[in-house]
Amino acid sequence: MEGLSFEEEAAEAEGSLTASAAGPMPKVWIDSVGGVPCERFDIVKYAQSIKKYWKKQPNDKDASADAWFNRVTKRAKDALAKSGKATSPLAVKPANKFVLHITGGSTTKGASFDNHGLVTLTRKGYWPHFQIGHKTNSKDKASPVRCVQFFPIDVTSFALAYGGHDSIQIEISQVQGEVFTNDAAITGAVKGLFQELRKAFPGMANKAPLEFKYKKGGGLPTVTKAAWGPLSGVVGHMHAPESTHGDPGLIDPSKILN
Ligand SMILES: [Zn+2]
Repeated sequence: MEGLSFEEEAAEAEGSLTASAAGPMPKVWIDSVGGVPCERFDIVKYAQSIKKYWKKQPNDKDASADAWFNRVTKRAKDALAKSGKATSPLAVKPANKFVLHITGGSTTKGASFDNHGLVTLTRKGYWPHFQIGHKTNSKDKASPVRCVQFFPIDVTSFALAYGGHDSIQIEISQVQGEVFTNDAAITGAVKGLFQELRKAFPGMANKAPLEFKYKKGGGLPTVTKAAWGPLSGVVGHMHAPESTHGDPGLIDPSKILN
């Protein structure tokens, strides 16, 4: 569509869905994903526990902990305040993409749900909507799967630098270099979540429109801003415009489609 700005083009592509969005979404917190219960996560309460710990560290000044706390909790509170309203961002313009990220851990220690997920995401203020991983450590495949939800699905989240305005995002706890779709328990939960999201956003296609592949040193398979808007279905951080990240790696997306 020549002559249109990116926003206009994206809006045109989703015009029919936008026109039918007449009120707040009925259900914005997901109860369970593929048999795994999904917990609603209290970001502010958790940030308080990090601040308390941080203030006890001899090299950290109270002022920096306070400044950090105020910055990240304001961001979280502002986002949460938009939920439940007819004007909430993803009720007005429904999400058409499920964006996958990996919260990688070292190959020796694995990626613990807490240390490579909750702590890192909260300290940076880069929460996605969801996090899924093995409870104790992603190398321990016998450990049960845990799902948490940071934000309701009618507001945008913060894991992408660009392109999060029409996306539901997830961080999957995984050891770096591994492929999460080789882990049946994690894959089952991610698939369960994607299918729940498709009920909430019927315009989200049951497909992976782009290949999950890249060559080492050969650049990432990013798309342009104009191409990103109309894309629908399962995509990765590696595809986002201007992305410098290769997550979620060389996965087999067919395992999370119906
Ligand atoms: Zn990412």
